[in-house]
Amino acid sequence: MEILENVPLSTLTTFHTGGPARFLVTVKSEVEISQAVEFAKEKGLPLIPIGAGSNMLIPDSGVDAVFLNIAMHDVSFTVNGADILCTAEAGVSWDSLVEQSVERGFWGLENLSSIPGTVGAGVVQNIGAYGSALSERVIAVDVYDTKQGKMQTLVSLECEFGYRTSIFKKEVDRYIVVRVSFALTTDASPNLSYRDLKNYFANVESIPSLREVREAVIEIRKGKFPPLDLFGTAGSFFLNPIVNDEKTRELSEMYPLMPLFPLPEGGVKLPLAWIFDHALSLKKLRVGKAFLWEKQALVITAEPNSTSEDVVLLASEVARLVFEKTGIQITPEVRLFGAEKKIVFKNK
Ligand SMILES: Cc1cc2nc3c(=O)[nH]c(=O)nc-3n(C[C@H](O)[C@H](O)[C@H](O)COP(=O)(O)OP(=O)(O)OC[C@H]3O[C@@H](n4cnc5c(N)ncnc54)[C@H](O)[C@@H]3O)c2cc1C
Repeated sequence: MEILENVPLSTLTTFHTGGPARFLVTVKSEVEISQAVEFAKEKGLPLIPIGAGSNMLIPDSGVDAVFLNIAMHDVSFTVNGADILCTAEAGVSWDSLVEQSVERGFWGLENLSSIPGTVGAGVVQNIGAYGSALSERVIAVDVYDTKQGKMQTLVSLECEFGYRTSIFKKEVDRYIVVRVSFALTTDASPNLSYRDLKNYFANVESIPSLREVREAVIEIRKGKFPPLDLFGTAGSFFLNPIVNDEKTRELSEMYPLMPLFPLPEGGVKLPLAWIFDHALSLKKLRVGKAFLWEKQALVITAEPNSTSEDVVLLASEVARLVFEKTGIQITPEVRLFGAEKKIVFKNK
């Protein structure tokens, strides 16, 4: 394994802010993962897996930890009639996996096109978009369990998937995701239930092809996020809030037109973007070099040379305004560390 010291995490994350990692360890096999776990133990430091850094905000002072980069990139497809077993290692770029599946005519991942990051983090976060979530296709996940010091396989049910969550997120840093297997299919099965996609294909009479669905998603997404080569961002900074029935009733009286999304795991998910647009006026909000993306206020955007503190103070202000207006306590989707975490939570 390769061990580097004092590595600037601004170069490894899509916000492009924050200080150094005490260590960055790159591994290429399961054996090296166990060696990295031992290395972190010897140093007395936490071990934190990092993929493409597209869902993390690093404190400006850095993080005193061993960051683990899993450079394992194998992908395989096994065909059994219309059923496809796809297996991908944690370090594979998520969108390249979607592209490889689409290229082969395998349905299942296309609505999740163009989401930045790796397969490993995708399963931790249970990434979702356009009416689809990664968990719908997961068969099993191979992990290195740092508590038990060995490899394990968790079948989908054991992963405790929910809205942007899983057992891997609930027990943060306990499980290192090594490999994920997915069930795909050659049977045409477009999921166009999400409004933007429905509108996109509104005037098309024939059933869209797999490639057309992927391209539609890519096209729609282009308008929603800042260009990553010009600005720092981690996409939506906040999770959509989940509230109980009583709070749902109260808010429905205040905002009768607000769409509500009951979740299978319980609670009702509220569309935070709708709340931003209809209950608050946040458009011009800015702290230092951090501002809210005009086309999608959930997206905190950092100009070049911004600090993580700018981002956190802006996130805090947004959380405060939402709480003041609706009584809802919003939480970040982006992973925060140390002091930054406390600042965002202080208004609760
Ligand atoms: C422009 C933009 C748009 C986005 N759009 C969406 C969207 O539509 N839907 C969506 O769900 N998300 C979206 N995201 C968020 C992000 O793409 C996902 O959360 C993605 O899964 C993060 O992958 P990553 O490899 O960059 O993870 P990182 O940021 O590197 O890590 C995220 C978390 O996963 C953990 N982790 C990473 N790898 C492993 C592993 N192998 N084992 C265990 N833990 C691990 C990390 O410790 C951390 O807690 C968007 C982000 C951006 C920048």
